[in-house]
This record gives sequence, C-alpha cells and structure tokens, in this order.
Amino acid sequence: MNSGARLYPWTLTQARRIMQDTERLPHALLLAGPRGLGKAEFAAYMAQVLSCDHPDRATPLSCGACQNCRLLAAGTHPDIQWVGPAEEKKTITIDQIRALAQSLYLRPYIGQRKIIVISPAEMMNINAANGLLKLLEEPPPDSLLILVSSDPMRLPATVRSRCQRIKFDQPARSEALSWLRSVEGFPGDQAEPLLDLAGGAPLRALTLQQDGFLAVRGELLGDIETLGTGNADPVSCAARWKSRGARRCLEWLHGGVIDLIKISMAPGGTMLVNSDSGERLHVLKKRLDLKQLFRFLEAVSDSTNLLDGPADELLLLEDVLIRWSRLARQK
Ligand SMILES: [Zn+2]
Repeated sequence: MNSGARLYPWTLTQARRIMQDTERLPHALLLAGPRGLGKAEFAAYMAQVLSCDHPDRATPLSCGACQNCRLLAAGTHPDIQWVGPAEEKKTITIDQIRALAQSLYLRPYIGQRKIIVISPAEMMNINAANGLLKLLEEPPPDSLLILVSSDPMRLPATVRSRCQRIKFDQPARSEALSWLRSVEGFPGDQAEPLLDLAGGAPLRALTLQQDGFLAVRGELLGDIETLGTGNADPVSCAARWKSRGARRCLEWLHGGVIDLIKISMAPGGTMLVNSDSGERLHVLKKRLDLKQLFRFLEAVSDSTNLLDGPADELLLLEDVLIRWSRLARQK
C-alpha cells in the first residue's frame, strides 16, 4: 500500500505550511482533494520529512542519509505504518484499526513520533471508522495519524471534524500541462485532451496516458453513437465495456453525459471533459432530451456507486447501455 514519497510542484505550498511548525502538529491530518493530485505520495513524503533527523526546511526535503531516512527507504521503519484495504478487499476493517491502536500506544522505537497513514480512508467500514474515532478522541502521545481521502464526505462527520484538513486542489491548467509535457515519453499533443478527461488532475492524466485511454475513449464514444442509431446491441456492447474495465467506462460515460448536458444548456462553448470531441458530441446531442439526460446521469452515478458493492458488473453495464439506447433513439 505504500506509495513512493513525492512532492509535486502543486503540493509544495502544503509541504511548506506543515514544515513551518512541526512542533505543533495536530494529532490527525486529513489530506483531502480529488484523485490524481498525489495525496498518498504526499503522505509518504510527510512520513519521511517528519521522521528525518536533519530535514532541510527550505526545500523542504528529508536528508536521505540519517537512520530514519535509511529505514524508510528500505520500507522497514518501525514507527511508520500504512493501512489500506487488504488485497482483493474493498474495505478497511475494525481488526486493522485495533491492531493499529495497540501499536500506537507503544512508545516510538527510534523516531520522535509514530506515523500512521490510512489510505484511502473512505474505505474504512463503519466499525473501523468508529474504532478510529476512539483513537481520535484520546490520541496516543507522540503519534500522528494521516488520513488520505479523495472522497472525504464518505467519512463520518465525527471523524472529519477531529482531523485538521489539508486541502489539495487541481493546479492551474498551464502548470499541469507543462508538468505533463516534462514527463519523459509523454506525447505532448495528448496533454490537453488527457488533462481534460482527467478533470484537471495531472497524475490521473498520466495514468490515462499509460493505460492508452484515448484509444479506449474513441471506442466508447463510437459505441455510444452506434447504440443511439440502433446499429449496435447494448448487451454485447456491455460485454466489451466490461472487458475494458467497468469502472473507467462508467466514469467516462458520466463525464460524457455531463458534456452533453453542458452543450444543451450552453451551446456556445464551455469547457468539455471530452474537449477534443466537441463536434461529435454536438451531433449526438441533437437526438437527446435535456430532462432525460439528467435522469440518465443519475442512473450512471447510481450504477458507478454500486460497483463498490457485490453487484454484477455486466448486469450494471447492460442496464445502463439499454437505458442509453432507448433514450438516444426516442427523438
Ligand atoms: Zn534524514
């Protein structure tokens, strides 16, 4: 679960703020903000720089040479722990939080404090969150809990209110684009469409590029068009979407429907998620009714949320695509 420590240009402000006064750190931090901004990497960075014996407060980076730094680099630092969902599981359980609580009440072995990172924190089930709440109410001395979440509203309010929130926002478009173009091997002409598809989050844009998502998106958009003209079968289309990854297909569809709604409401031109496919979306929109688009958007959201549970992915996709083909063929 451990992410590599990394400080991105757009997370420097947060780092400097924390390093200004490390003596008066709260017991718990909540790193909150959209996916793809490097929050987990920031948590790893904090564990590194806060345990380091000789951090450089100006940069602000750890020395890389002290005992703490060396143990961390080897992944064997006894005072730093990562908690995430066990493999193949979708939740963080109460047993994991109990184990954590026990170790937190022991003194730090070599560092000044124990640091625990819980990521993604919204994966805690309700029992785990209640267990954590007890820890937050009576924080063990010399400890720092770092919760990482791209969906903090899924955490109980009682947990959220006991953490100091560190907010992460998308960097300015120009900063994000120039960072993407500086990544070795990143095709510069894909920076803009991918950043838009990623909702402005640079690391997410990078992942989309590495997954070859522009090509996949081309196929998904093609499917949506042919379903609308009645020239494709939603059931076999659903099987294809499943093989491409149900979640990313539904997430893309959600953005695509938002684009269609935006075009309906402000045809003049607004920022689209699929910024490079505006013309095709304009054509598609002509066959659609705005009210029904809103209803369909809700259905897509519901289906995406159901992916977290035991629901059958194929059935969810079939349902969504059958709805779509009906909707698009009505006019
Ligand atoms: Zn060090």
